[in-house]
Amino acid sequence: MPHNLATLLDLYRQRGQAQYGGEAVSQFEHALQCAALAEQAGQSAEMIAACLFHDVGHLVHHLGDDPALRGLDDRHEQRAIPVLEQLFPAAVTLPIQLHVAAKRYLCAVDDAYWDSLSATSKRSLELQGGAFSPAAAIAFIQQPYAEQAVQLRRWDDLAKVPNQDTPDLEHFLPCLQQACQSVDLR
Ligand code: FE
Repeated sequence: MPHNLATLLDLYRQRGQAQYGGEAVSQFEHALQCAALAEQAGQSAEMIAACLFHDVGHLVHHLGDDPALRGLDDRHEQRAIPVLEQLFPAAVTLPIQLHVAAKRYLCAVDDAYWDSLSATSKRSLELQGGAFSPAAAIAFIQQPYAEQAVQLRRWDDLAKVPNQDTPDLEHFLPCLQQACQSVDLR
């Protein structure tokens, strides 16, 4: 289990070529596209780091590239936390932990959102519990970092463009080092 930035980045270099679920991009391309969207939007170092690493949970299990196809929820948003929490503050880990619930939230509050999801994402939504009820949606969005999780989710959904040019991993290093330095002392 990686506990420093170098081993975390190596994990992407070594396992990041795996296909991103049923999408036409790799995990590595998806991560870089998501981080680039946050950077283009002028977001904080923590938010850019959250976007880059939001799916690290998919890289630390051995359930195959698309467990949802076999009816399995890999709970990747939870698996990410032990990998990241010693390295990054809550401003990075909580949006990641909540990004699957953010999909359930958006399906409850935005009529157009479900239609916009890819087939893969619709399939995994059912395994993740489906759209929130109105009451569950209200409870969700009141949590710390829920708004950031929703924003991360919007970029997550866009970060699936085949053959898109992005900055490379090294480009994000200064920003990742900055996000690491703000880790809470727990
Ligand atoms: Fe994702």
